[in-house]
Amino acid sequence: MKLATAPEISDGYLIARHPATGIETGRYRVSDAAAIDEAVTTARQTAGWWAGLGFTARRKILLECKAVMAGRVRELMRLIRVETGKSVSDAFSEIATSFEHLVWAPKNARRVLGPRRVSSTLAMWDHTAYLEYQPYGVVAVIGPWNYPMHTPMGSIVYALAAGNTVVFKPSEYTPGVGQWLVDVITEVAGRPIVSVVQGAGEVGARLCEADVDKIAFTGSVGTAKKVATAAAARLVPVLIEGGGKDAAIVDADADVTTAADFVLWAALTNAGQSCTGFERVYVVDDVAERFIERLVAGAGRLRVGGGDDADIGPITMPGQIAVIDAHIRDAVERGGTPVVGGVEAVQPPFVHPTILVDVPEDSTAVTEETFGPVLVVNRVADAEEALRRTNATGFGLGGAVFGRRNAMSLARRMRSGMTAINSGFGFAAIPALPFGGVGESGYGRAHGDDGLREFAHAKSIAKRR
Ligand code: NAP
Repeated sequence: MKLATAPEISDGYLIARHPATGIETGRYRVSDAAAIDEAVTTARQTAGWWAGLGFTARRKILLECKAVMAGRVRELMRLIRVETGKSVSDAFSEIATSFEHLVWAPKNARRVLGPRRVSSTLAMWDHTAYLEYQPYGVVAVIGPWNYPMHTPMGSIVYALAAGNTVVFKPSEYTPGVGQWLVDVITEVAGRPIVSVVQGAGEVGARLCEADVDKIAFTGSVGTAKKVATAAAARLVPVLIEGGGKDAAIVDADADVTTAADFVLWAALTNAGQSCTGFERVYVVDDVAERFIERLVAGAGRLRVGGGDDADIGPITMPGQIAVIDAHIRDAVERGGTPVVGGVEAVQPPFVHPTILVDVPEDSTAVTEETFGPVLVVNRVADAEEALRRTNATGFGLGGAVFGRRNAMSLARRMRSGMTAINSGFGFAAIPALPFGGVGESGYGRAHGDDGLREFAHAKSIAKRR
């Protein structure tokens, strides 16, 4: 049996494989330069019609897309699971949260982007001021594999609701999910308001250089910098949703049980392959022992495997296993103590939960994104030290504070786009809350009012009677 060594291309086709069994799950024609240009041209030709429909008609079509997807949810569930290896609950929660966005964005687009009169001192000169948000035109959406539906939907549906058309490049590991989403939307709309381009390596880069008006990228920091450079060369606006190294702070007055349970969930859900997964915890000495005990007990109950009863599935991207392995080894060699898992936890294509205590701050497991079920727990003297260490990486996506008296102050001072208090809150699940980071985690915002405005430019009109 052949395990995935993606990206695998044969005779011009991208071959997708189940990450745990290696079984081929589909073949997708790789888009050459002409196919990419054609997709962009088609999107441009459709853009005027789609924008001209207005908010109400677009809303009706997008809500119908949600209804059709919900009716075919078993197909979608199967596709997500065979391409990523996700557990049943991880795939289910991805689909459920994606549907939230599919409903929220079209329902709120008019309120956020629709024309309005604004108060103006111009009135004294017989002018009335108007503001509206107009679509850019054609949006390139480039997505990752770890949430192959939810993450691109967080851009695609907002871009569409704002009146843009879209060319979507799914990750080379999840081409089938991307194709499925585009097929359903096209079928419902009756016109190609979204097209898909497939491939590995060069397709995303080519799309960034094509005649698009906006780029929405989600992926690793290294690729994000290339995308931002390509966009800058043509002054194309870009949304960057990059990686993270989220930390939780557990203060001395925290409810330790709650903290440990949320931290465990946020660290291990989706086999740790979440941009906002907790990869570090800074726990104040006074409560560290109880906190670690609870973590260890919880991790011991989790089942790893590829079956329907598993809590933690395989690592989707084979190349990531070497990174996870290297981070664990580096942490242990430098004196970190594995209290769960450790070096022997890496059993490709699976990585068993690993909790490492007292890991030196210059270890790769502390400084770089691990993207696996690996959690570093470092003890600190107080919450201020925890905050200092939390803010010491270049990343700034999410994070959490567990505690009472100083929780809000710590949350505000955490260098991140999103911080939960006494929770492992999944910000991606709540459409009304903007999603995004600071520093190397990116710029711009997906979701919420800001996520709709991300896909439209402000148009000011002053009219004299
Ligand atoms: P990745 O390797 O950066 O790839 C992301 C996408 O970029 C793929 O579709 C890839 O396709 C494309 N790409 C590669 N090189 C490109 C280039 N030069 N120009 C344009 N596109 C290019 O990331 P990944 O491994 O798929 O995803 C995991 C990463 O995404 C993690 O770092 C995770 O933290 C991050 N993530 C962030 C968020 C967030 O919202 N902040 C959400 C989910 C995931 P091709 O190689 O085929 O071109």
